[in-house]
Amino acid sequence: MAADLFEVHSIRTDVVDLGHFSCTCGRWRVEGIPCAHALQCIITDGRLIQDFIYPMLSILFYR
Ligand SMILES: [Zn+2]
Repeated sequence: MAADLFEVHSIRTDVVDLGHFSCTCGRWRVEGIPCAHALQCIITDGRLIQDFIYPMLSILFYR
């Protein structure tokens, strides 16, 4: 969903996909908690951080 995609511009440009619990930096999937880019998007979008803390469990559940 396009509404879940956010571009975060810092030293490099990372794209956060809140709908798929992923960020192009890769840390979100590896660490299981939102990376700094994701957190920024979650807060900016007014969402709840706790909804994104255990993404791997959610992904497995919905497969
Ligand atoms: Zn990131």
